[in-house]
Amino acid sequence: MAVADLTAKACGLVHCHACALISRIQDDHACPRCGAALHSRKPFSLQRTWALTLGAAVLYVPANVFPIMTVVRMGQGEPKTILAGVASLIDAGMWPLAMIVFIASVVVPIGKIIFLIYLLVSVQRRSKTYLGERMVLYRLMEYFGHWSMVDIFLVTLLAALVKMGTLATIEPGVGVSFFGAVVVLTLFAARAFDPRLIWDSANDHR
Ligand SMILES: [Zn+2]
Repeated sequence: MAVADLTAKACGLVHCHACALISRIQDDHACPRCGAALHSRKPFSLQRTWALTLGAAVLYVPANVFPIMTVVRMGQGEPKTILAGVASLIDAGMWPLAMIVFIASVVVPIGKIIFLIYLLVSVQRRSKTYLGERMVLYRLMEYFGHWSMVDIFLVTLLAALVKMGTLATIEPGVGVSFFGAVVVLTLFAARAFDPRLIWDSANDHR
């Protein structure tokens, strides 16, 4: 066995996530020292990641179709979707803000969903290519995933700012709830994916 293939799982060993004890893989799957449930890979990682990713992809549609907020000024206003909101920010000359909203609410969630599907398919096809690159992308996805919440903060911040004046009000739309659900589902999907499966499927350790 090559050093690169030497894993605890291949040696019949398992690491306890609660107390860090290394023990032999046995049938009862409980840590002999602290009693925590033992598993050498996250249980049902692929199934759970698929379910959460597809759920996020489905909810991304209503998140964009339904208005994310309504700005009422002088008694008049119309509901705005994410993209319409970006367009009106550009109209108002607020380019940096428009960029932040566009990246946080369009580029990051779509990129995350596409990349999660790519990871899942490549593991299931037992791909042996781009192993290191896939790990780098997985880490980037975990890191940047948190930033897609920026949108929710932005709507809240705008609402708070505007409430201080009396000329306009901002009401959050139903799209915010769908968008929040997309963000939470992609966070859980990235968490449910076990990156060790990338190397397992390449080395055929099952
Ligand atoms: Zn333990």
